[in-house]
Amino acid sequence: MKHEKIYRATLEKWGAEAQYDQAVEECAELIAALKHFKRDRVGEEEIISELADVTLMVGQLTWMLGAEKVEAAIDEKLAKLQGLLDKG
Ligand SMILES: [Mg+2]
Repeated sequence: MKHEKIYRATLEKWGAEAQYDQAVEECAELIAALKHFKRDRVGEEEIISELADVTLMVGQLTWMLGAEKVEAAIDEKLAKLQGLLDKG
């Protein structure tokens, strides 16, 4: 998996609990940035920066919990979405 080496090092250095906390924090920052973006109070660079943070934390947790399991869940959800799209 991409970035696996750094995900492993991060987990070893700070532990699982800190990763869950960091993921919550980064999601909250993205939420706040999106709210400000809608009101033209921040620019696209801010959203991209927060998206990068969240993407990294999603990668970290995905690696910790099992990429195959997350992939299987994604496939299931995409199939459901495709079903909705096909219904019109
Ligand atoms: Mg952030």
